[in-house]
Amino acid sequence: MEIKEFQQMIKNIYFHRDSKRGLERTFLWFVEEVGELAEALRKEKQENIEEEFADVLAWLVSLANLANVDLEKAALKKYPNRCPYCGKNPCECEKE
Ligand SMILES: [Mg+2]
Ligand SMILES: [Zn+2]
Repeated sequence: MEIKEFQQMIKNIYFHRDSKRGLERTFLWFVEEVGELAEALRKEKQENIEEEFADVLAWLVSLANLANVDLEKAALKKYPNRCPYCGKNPCECEKE
């Protein structure tokens, strides 16, 4: 499945609820899920880690739907198979 298909799938399932909730409150949910991912990573439970990555991705995609952003297009525009800063693949930027 491509990012575009995943974004459309999440739109089909959740857009009616996401649009009612609105961008600001959806962003709060997204941040909460990022916090849950931080906790899962800290506790090193693989099953939870995978679930929270899925949540973060789903909420990020919901945000993109609300902001009218085609995530796949935006991602490939900024990262067209090379580092956007040094232009290399793999990246050869000096700083970490
Ligand atoms: Mg979660
Ligand atoms: Zn670079």
